[in-house]
Amino acid sequence: MYLPVLSPSASHFKALPLARRGDADEPVRGREPIVPRLGRPPRVHLWHIGCQMNDADHERLAESFAEIGFIPDVALEDADIAVLISCAVRSNAEQKVYGKFKELIPWKRERPGRAIALTGCMAVEHGSALLDRMADLDYMFDVREPEGFFARLQSLYGGDVDGPVTMPASDRLLAYVPVMGGCNEMCTYCIVPFVRGRESSRPTAEIVADVRRLVDRGVREVTLLGQNVNSYRDPGAGTGLPELLAAVDAIPGLWRLRFLTSHPRNAVPQLFAAMRDLSSVCEQLHLPVQAGDDELLRRMRRVYTVAEYREKIAEAKATVPGLALTTDIIVGFSGETEAEFEGTVRLLSDIRYDVVHIQAYSVRPGTAAARRADDVPLVEKKRRLNHLLDIQRGIALELNQALLASTVDVLVEGVGENGRPYGRTRQGKVAWLPAGSASAGDLRAGQVAAVTHWQLEIDAVRAAA
Ligand code: SAH
Ligand code: SF4
Repeated sequence: MYLPVLSPSASHFKALPLARRGDADEPVRGREPIVPRLGRPPRVHLWHIGCQMNDADHERLAESFAEIGFIPDVALEDADIAVLISCAVRSNAEQKVYGKFKELIPWKRERPGRAIALTGCMAVEHGSALLDRMADLDYMFDVREPEGFFARLQSLYGGDVDGPVTMPASDRLLAYVPVMGGCNEMCTYCIVPFVRGRESSRPTAEIVADVRRLVDRGVREVTLLGQNVNSYRDPGAGTGLPELLAAVDAIPGLWRLRFLTSHPRNAVPQLFAAMRDLSSVCEQLHLPVQAGDDELLRRMRRVYTVAEYREKIAEAKATVPGLALTTDIIVGFSGETEAEFEGTVRLLSDIRYDVVHIQAYSVRPGTAAARRADDVPLVEKKRRLNHLLDIQRGIALELNQALLASTVDVLVEGVGENGRPYGRTRQGKVAWLPAGSASAGDLRAGQVAAVTHWQLEIDAVRAAA
């Protein structure tokens, strides 16, 4: 697999899995991690930030730790090893990872033998340059190929483990299931294709088996994940996301099915028809638009026009009754003029999304857009961002007000500190139920009695059909 070299700092990044400091193929810098005899299984604290893929990687790593006899997901103060699953999509995500790492330094020094590992997109993006920058970092690995890291730990802590650890029965209702990795799009601002590689889909049969296992353990709602999930192709049959949704929908005991993130290029009528026809597939479509101006979209290399995007949305809405729409927007991209920004304002006002994730453009070294000037001043980016937020707040409230007195289904996820059960509707909206009317795991129908911009209040609650 060819990955273009990004920043100069990544130029000495070697083949994966990433080397650990002191490995034979890496010059020894600083000290070796001190690995004490614990006389008990090592305990691991896992922390992640960023997209749902990192959330899924967190789960997967926890399971792998349990398989090699380590105890995963303990509180930091109880841990011997801390694993940071990082994000590189914007500079502020990276800053949060550096911040978290700084917090770990006193934790590590408090007790000799503690160690820190870093994985996720920053590990791939910066490679061994991070070992210089983070003197207290003990291990680094590529989250897509963690085998070397686990083998290393097994050899270091072999005397302390007793065999696989049984994870406590989880009361998880919701789960993320990655169905494909990587992204073949080359949006000019985006680091994802560099750090996650080319698209590669998992076989449908394997995904179905995963979901079955989760449902057997009590999971009721599954979100299928991919950076570009609607370009999913079964490696054998060549079937796409609509067929995958049908295969997963057929699993008894699964109540709700969602998928993230769709690219407008692959948002096709067959997908909308599958959303309409498959009973578990929720009425929610996340279709990032990024900008509402053709020239801006061209500079971003999004490969659609505003008119094409609007047509897809119209078709999706016409096909799927009650469809909730969400999107991502970038403000202040290189050269974004006031007139171009106005196009985004118009698009947002016309489409009326339920939720909009708005980000200020953040230059990612090595991407095509990094060669252009980052010429929208930060104050102006913030102004544009806040302007869109203001508009969106009004729209979200109006859309929720339109739900007043209608009946919605809520999958109850828990009970809040106020004693009130909460969960989400099929459209993905957070909903609060009267105290005592349900517990976690219940599916309830009720009437929308009051709304805010972001939440619904439900009463007249009964068991859902
Ligand atoms: N594959 C998905 C998610 C990509 S990253 C998609 O195509 O939408 C999630 C969001 O982060 C993107 O939709 C985009 O809005 C934002 N993003 C990505 N790179 C960015 C950058 N350099 N600066 C600001 N926002 C960015
Ligand atoms: Fe990034 Fe574009 Fe791929 Fe999304 S589709 S991950 S924005 S390159």
